[in-house]
Amino acid sequence: MEKLKQRILKDGQVRNGEVLKVDSFLNHQMDIDLLDEIGAEFQRLFQDENITKILTIEASGIAIACMTARHFHVPVVFAKKAKSLNLDGELYTSKVHSFTYDRDYDITVSKKFIQSDDRILIIDDFMANGKAMDGLIDICHQAHAQVAGIGICIEKGFQGGGDRLRKEGYRLESLAIVESMEPGHIVFR
Ligand code: 5GP
Repeated sequence: MEKLKQRILKDGQVRNGEVLKVDSFLNHQMDIDLLDEIGAEFQRLFQDENITKILTIEASGIAIACMTARHFHVPVVFAKKAKSLNLDGELYTSKVHSFTYDRDYDITVSKKFIQSDDRILIIDDFMANGKAMDGLIDICHQAHAQVAGIGICIEKGFQGGGDRLRKEGYRLESLAIVESMEPGHIVFR
C-alpha cells in the first residue's frame, strides 16, 4: 500500500537495526484517516473470504482491527496478555515469545467469542518472527475455527515470520514489507 510505505519513509524511525518505530501514526499516536484506508485495503484484499470475525492482540492491534472491522461489519475480538489464571477453563490460552520485550507471556481469549464455524481474519500491526501470530493461530485451532486470512500492516521480511507462515499455507497479506532497514534508509520488497 503506497500511502503506508510513503508514511513509513517519512515518519518511521529505525532502532538497533531490528525495530521500526511508527508510534507517531500507527501504534501510539494514531492517524485515523490512514487507519481507515488500511482497513479498507484489508477489506478489498479479503472480501471473498466470508470473514465472520476479526482477531487481534492487545494493545497495538486493536485500533487497526477496529478500523478494519468497520469495513467488514463483523465483531473484533482481541487476545489479552494474561494477568489472571484460567481457573474454570473458560479461556483459550497460548504462550507467545515477545519480540519487543524478549520474554514469554500467555495470551487468552474467552471461549465464548470464537466458534467452530467462524472464519477468522487475524490482524496485527507488525510481523517479525511470527510468534504473536503463532499464538493467535493456535487459539483459532483450539476453537476449531478457520484462519481465513492474516492481514499485517508492516512485515519485516528479513525476520522471516511472514514467509514461514506463507509456506505453511496461510493467506498472509502485508501492506508494506520491509526488506532491509538502517537509520535513514528503508528498502521495501
Ligand atoms: P513477532 O511475534 O512476529 O516476532 O513480533 C510481532 C509483534 O511484536 C507485534 O505484535 C508487534 O507489536 C511487535 N513488533 C515486532 N517488531 C516490531 C517493530 O519493529 N516495531 C514495533 N513497534 N513493534 C514490533
